Amino acid sequence: MAAEPIPFVDLGWSYRELQSELDEATRRFFASGWYVLGKEVEAFEQEYAAYCGAKHCVGVANGLDAMNLVLRAWDIGPGDEVIVPSNTYIATWLAVSYAGATPVPVEPDPATCNLDPARIEAALTPRTRAILPVHLYGRAADMGPIKALAARRGLKVLEDAAQAQGAVCRGKRAGALGDAAGHSFYPTKNLGAFGDAGAVTTDDPVLAEKVRCLRNYGSRKRYYNEVQGINSRLDEVQAALLRVKLKYLDRWNAERVRLAGLYHRLLGVESGAPVPDLVLPGVPGETGHVWHLFTVRHPRRDALQAALAAEGIGTLIHYPVPPHLSQAYAAAGFPRGAFPLAERIAETVLSLPLGPWLKEAQIERTAAVVRRFGAGEGSATA
Ligand SMILES: *Cc1c(COP(=O)(O)O)cnc(C)c1O
Repeated sequence: MAAEPIPFVDLGWSYRELQSELDEATRRFFASGWYVLGKEVEAFEQEYAAYCGAKHCVGVANGLDAMNLVLRAWDIGPGDEVIVPSNTYIATWLAVSYAGATPVPVEPDPATCNLDPARIEAALTPRTRAILPVHLYGRAADMGPIKALAARRGLKVLEDAAQAQGAVCRGKRAGALGDAAGHSFYPTKNLGAFGDAGAVTTDDPVLAEKVRCLRNYGSRKRYYNEVQGINSRLDEVQAALLRVKLKYLDRWNAERVRLAGLYHRLLGVESGAPVPDLVLPGVPGETGHVWHLFTVRHPRRDALQAALAAEGIGTLIHYPVPPHLSQAYAAAGFPRGAFPLAERIAETVLSLPLGPWLKEAQIERTAAVVRRFGAGEGSATA
């Protein structure tokens, strides 16, 4: 009998797990008669701020808007520069561009794939206003040196926490590590909604109030508009559903940590025979990791992906094109080779299935295929 396919993600799983609670939340939403910016959004904002350890949370429509609205609230726009990782999902850059400012890429530390604090200083100019580190793949960025540099140079720090709900860095959660954070609750994220959703967290009451105003047409009082805001409200029904899922986030993250540990035991040095040429994601010491993705690197990535696909195992590449080489940024004129670390990462990364919906046996089967690929490599390439 052929083995069951292992899909890369199983988005229906959380509904099957929590069906009665989620149905009850939807029922409450329908019956409320209040469908935009109501009690559910307000309650979620309080609960999520408390979870992150931040003083304020403002629900918005998605993660891109969350970051964009923070930048706008800080009056960062045309003529200003924001430091971004060269290796990230393009939304990080777009949040800056969409505010009218210029994203200035800085290469990652290859060991973590996160912004390398040691490389930031050289990219600063008199126009730099903020640093936008991303907690990529769920691993908290090295915030200590980033914040120290920002404090020295009078810059703001905005976290892109889209992939890192719950990650801890030196005792603080993602979302409470900078001056503000943008969160995405896109369905695949560790805390995912059933549609688009996002939030801003911050300890700054003035910033929170500005974002609250910007997300709702620049209006604090109905039909009185102070600034040219946008419509980017967290949907009331998504807030109701997120409130249910938030209670399970720590448990689900712990399961991700456990399954990532299993991959390491089966594929890494702990297995006694690490797979040749396979680079596993490092296990952080001081900085936390909630394993949004389990992303390995291999020089023959496409062949490894094909070998897994042949066994019915789904994988994805995060991300095949670094933002500076994407057509969207062609006008910025970055040549190939401008950010070689980001380019090398894009050529070699592969994300293996990982999530609380998976069983140990599925991780074991995936690892076995990776091992078999590694063993066959010598003869295949000879
Ligand atoms: C998902 C994601 C975003 C964007 O979030 P949306 O809610 O889809 O707008 C931004 N940055 C990173 C790193 C992401 O993974």
